[in-house]
Amino acid sequence: MGTVVRTVQPKGEGLAGCTIIDSASKIIESYADYLTDESGFGPSSAERLVFARSEKQIALVLKDVYEREEPVTVSAGRTGIVGGAVPTGGTLLSLAEMNNVIGIRRLPDGRLALTAEPGITIAELNDRVARKELGIATGLVTQEQRSELEAFVADDHAYFYPPDPTEDTAHLGATVATNASGARSFYYGATREHVHRLRICLSNGEVIDVERGVYTAADGKFEVVLGDGRSITVKIPSYSMPETKNAAGYFVHSDVDLIDLFIASEGTLGVITEVEVVPRRRPVGILSALAFFGSDNDAIEFVRQARGDLDDQPRPGAVVPMALEFFDSRSFDFLRRRKEEGGESSNIPELPDGARAGVLFEQEFEDEDSLMAAYEGWEELLDGHGSSMEQTWGGMEESDLAKLRALRHSIAEEVNGVIARAKAKYPEIHKIGTDIAVPHDRLMEMFAYYRDTLAGMNLEYVIFGHIGDSHLHLNIMPVDPDQLRVAEDLALQFARQAVKIGGTVSAEHGIGKLKHEFLEALYGEDGLREMAVLKRTFDPSGMLNRGVMFSSDLLT
Ligand SMILES: Cc1cc2nc3c(=O)[nH]c(=O)nc-3n(C[C@H](O)[C@H](O)[C@H](O)COP(=O)(O)OP(=O)(O)OC[C@H]3O[C@@H](n4cnc5c(N)ncnc54)[C@H](O)[C@@H]3O)c2cc1C
Repeated sequence: MGTVVRTVQPKGEGLAGCTIIDSASKIIESYADYLTDESGFGPSSAERLVFARSEKQIALVLKDVYEREEPVTVSAGRTGIVGGAVPTGGTLLSLAEMNNVIGIRRLPDGRLALTAEPGITIAELNDRVARKELGIATGLVTQEQRSELEAFVADDHAYFYPPDPTEDTAHLGATVATNASGARSFYYGATREHVHRLRICLSNGEVIDVERGVYTAADGKFEVVLGDGRSITVKIPSYSMPETKNAAGYFVHSDVDLIDLFIASEGTLGVITEVEVVPRRRPVGILSALAFFGSDNDAIEFVRQARGDLDDQPRPGAVVPMALEFFDSRSFDFLRRRKEEGGESSNIPELPDGARAGVLFEQEFEDEDSLMAAYEGWEELLDGHGSSMEQTWGGMEESDLAKLRALRHSIAEEVNGVIARAKAKYPEIHKIGTDIAVPHDRLMEMFAYYRDTLAGMNLEYVIFGHIGDSHLHLNIMPVDPDQLRVAEDLALQFARQAVKIGGTVSAEHGIGKLKHEFLEALYGEDGLREMAVLKRTFDPSGMLNRGVMFSSDLLT
């Protein structure tokens, strides 16, 4: 392992053949979708929209804007909800046309690894892996890779890529840039754990190739040797990260692996041009069920036992949860009310009488015996928390799973519907959603803090999400500008409370352009300044993804 990384030559063709839209008005007219993301943040503008097709094109574009000290924003699937891909003038660099799988190999430890361009969507990558039709241009790969490809196709096992950030139109490179995760990350881990190698184009157009385990910091430092022989020293910030699932700020510790510095850096340190991931063998089947409980507390205690948190109530041996997703009593009340009113959820079945909260659980199985053991384990667990297997929705049939998907989908849709109706009257209205995770032993306390603080405030809200990771999304639905202001203040208050008890302000969505204050709440002003120093080392003029993570004022 070393601390010195040298830049390499960019790959691929030059700018000929690259689509460049060179007019701000044409971008507004024909490419308006590229000027925002799922946060609705804007209005924004860009003078130039480039659809890169190769690493070399990315390098040339970055070198050009670097020399002119102009802003450049990286755009991917635009499903982000913190405004990261929304341009702030200058160049908007879309990677949507870099969407191929380009390599396959066996790592020294025997795991299979696939290399893909950054613009492939998670849906497309998984589809190709499932069909075993990777679409690698075999004429361009070595004999060794061709043999590996043949072995992969001939292998009886099915494979998949585990990170699943719900919106599967998200691009692979962006999910790395944000360390995306999802319901099943509780078991499989967030994106970071599935990435083995990255190629990254730095702000000046030079490229580094970083494989996990090859470069680790010594005394909190790395050296990057540039093409002209100059070397820059990268100093790792000294703040401590929360021990929860986390996507806020740079991933740091004194002997950090260089690859981890770029994962979750939200495109502020460089543009990811190639990603090598490690797919996993698909289990034979997945047991999925939604269990109902008489109260929020019963549901949370069930989760705590299922996770193995409780010394006096060990979880049944055969229970190995893959996902644990929570719906609070307000989510169910909200759904029932909207169903009566004929909303989106009118097509989902009636929730059982007395169901005040729900937990969706999933577990992999390999054969009939392991399925039966898991089933009995969950049954025992449910019985101990005032629920029962007979009452659950779920199973393994497609129609059972469709019912679960419909329920999850309709809560999100109904929340969006309330916001859209309020927005029609007051355009500034938007949903206020937290992305907080806390240590497992503080979950109940954080939940009570939400409920106690919001009691009597006359705000519509629901709480649901990735409870396995103690990562719940509180969604407040303000209906007028006064409520919006109150909700915005509350979101920051909740984030500060989470930090006080060892949690994070963002477990999966990142900081983007909308949550700077939250990052400061987590790492303080000194932490932010150290991050800004790191950013300036890689991007002296601060033009790459300007305004993402922290304000440009810190970079001057
Ligand atoms: C309904 C809904 C549900 C969601 N659920 C989840 C969830 O469960 N888990 C989760 O993690 N997220 C979730 N998200 C957020 C979002 O899907 C993820 O953050 C996703 O990783 C963004 O991918 P994208 O391609 O849309 O990126 P974009 O929004 O286009 O970009 C995201 C950021 O990455 C940067 N970036 C993009 N590509 C690169 C690159 N190649 N190199 C460097 N920087 C780059 C962009 O500049 C931007 O800052 C959800 C979003 C929605 C709308």
